[in-house]
Amino acid sequence: MCGIVGYIGSRQAAEICLSGLRRLEYRGYDSAGVAVIRDGQLQVRKVVGKLANLTAALRESPLPGTTGIGHTRWATHGKPSVTNSHPHLSCDGRIAVVHNGIIENYGELRNQLEAEGHQFRSVTDTEVMPHLVEKYYQGDLREAVRRAILDLEGAFAFGVICADEPEQLIAARRFSPLVVGIGEGENYIASDMGAIRPETDQVYVIGDDELALITPDDIELTDLELNPIDRQVFTIPWPPEAAQKSGHKYFMHKEIHEQAEAMHACLAGRLSNPDEPIILEGLGMSEQDIRNLQKVVFTACGTAFHAGMVGQFIMESLAQVPAQVDLAAEFQVKDPVVLDNTLAVIISQSGETADSLLALRDLKGKGARIASVLNVVDSSIARESDGVVYIQAGPEIGVASTKAYTLQVLTLELLALHFAEVRQSAPPEQIRALKAALLAVPDQVAELLRREPEVKQVAARYYEMDDALYLGRGINLPSAMEGALKLKEISYIHAEGYSAGEMKHGPIALVDPELFTVAIAVNGQVYEKMTGNIQEIKAREGPVIGVANDGDEVIAQQCNDVLWVPSCPELISPITVAIPLQLLAYHMADMRGEDIDQPRNLAKTVTVE
Ligand code: GLU
Repeated sequence: MCGIVGYIGSRQAAEICLSGLRRLEYRGYDSAGVAVIRDGQLQVRKVVGKLANLTAALRESPLPGTTGIGHTRWATHGKPSVTNSHPHLSCDGRIAVVHNGIIENYGELRNQLEAEGHQFRSVTDTEVMPHLVEKYYQGDLREAVRRAILDLEGAFAFGVICADEPEQLIAARRFSPLVVGIGEGENYIASDMGAIRPETDQVYVIGDDELALITPDDIELTDLELNPIDRQVFTIPWPPEAAQKSGHKYFMHKEIHEQAEAMHACLAGRLSNPDEPIILEGLGMSEQDIRNLQKVVFTACGTAFHAGMVGQFIMESLAQVPAQVDLAAEFQVKDPVVLDNTLAVIISQSGETADSLLALRDLKGKGARIASVLNVVDSSIARESDGVVYIQAGPEIGVASTKAYTLQVLTLELLALHFAEVRQSAPPEQIRALKAALLAVPDQVAELLRREPEVKQVAARYYEMDDALYLGRGINLPSAMEGALKLKEISYIHAEGYSAGEMKHGPIALVDPELFTVAIAVNGQVYEKMTGNIQEIKAREGPVIGVANDGDEVIAQQCNDVLWVPSCPELISPITVAIPLQLLAYHMADMRGEDIDQPRNLAKTVTVE
């Protein structure tokens, strides 16, 4: 999931790479490095650990030069160390490469290259690339990169520079994301647009098996046969400050607080009035297509999978279409039966999630129509989908996804209601009430965000505990799983998300005074059962934090603490329930002194399988 960045122009390349890497650090922070060309020589600085270490190293001994590439690493092959850090160099030290992805046939290539006399320094898969480029280099860097790529299997986005051609930066990709930023008398490359947004809002999104030859004044895009590609310039739709913390301690905190406004943006133009039909531009399905649907398959990873669970529930409940939800990584190792008229909904914040992209290809190959629910525009998944509904969350940089989750759920609610309207599968008054409730959700979320001090007080009572159980049922089972995931990924507290109905089949054995339970008991069909489960936990001296609707005296009496949420129809409640659970996880992690935006071992956009 590494982040790559590159610059060519007349300013100091190392500084620009460093500033781009700061916005890419969510992709990995095992090590960082830059290579810069100066006076016909390549100079490299690499450090283990976070980018701050590279910043310090460059402050101590700067690397002047106006052509450079940089990298922040999430190690796949070889432990985090200076030698395994990127940029990697050719034997003669004249070619430097940064890489995001995995070169699958690196073992075989390495053996061949070693037999031909190349000397490797690291144990990474990446290092075969500078040696291959060196092998093919005869005074034309792009040609050497092209030849090298033809030998590779796997996934990559590369930035390559060569001391013999200081006015050139070569970029290429297969599967891993890459954009080229367009400046005046200067150009950039980056793993995502956010990294270079402060410098430019004009980019080319590079496609699979495409090459870019970049000079300060020109960008030439070609395929691997060197046929020119006429790509449209993409204008980044958000302002430069969108990728800054704006006074918040962490991106995660900023993003939690952006949710109400983002929900207004997500609803705008799609649902403005409960009496008007929902409009989902980009979905690309006629009413007949929607009526003909036989099945909907939701596929996603991590947090987006939890949104998919909500999607599956509401799709069946409202649109009356058989629906399933699968983890993308599991999907690929199954041999699923895809019926005629199957719609696959791929959910991904970045649109680059490797497992989800592979699942998409598999489903498409089996004849499914693909509609994706994405945040980042013009991503790989977007380009391979038949239709895309964007969640309109704006850039999400915090590794722990927050606003993307609630906006994914909101978008899936719109999708299910749209299908229900077209299929006439739910009573019109129910659809109308749900639409009215969805329109009220942004203000309810704003109110929940104002209650942050109360959530913080609850967090203060539990943050020193090491184990947690999150229980929910029905449409709030995914809320429990997502709440537990949020807590474990940033606080490292062991947390399990379970169906409350499963409690007696195992997890209740964990209950004791040292484990706290978060029980989601909002109004709805499972409310009574949840209160029963809370009693069972209390009877075993387990402390319980309830999540309940404002004014619920029963829950107030049963639980040690309550996180209050305004009432709304149960089918919509996963959105409101998510807010206090995000804040609870955030404050517990903060109280434990963890680095919330850079949790250990994690990176945000999982672009490797
Ligand atoms: N495979 C490369 C390495 O381990 C790049 C990893 C990645 O992109 O996540 O250094």
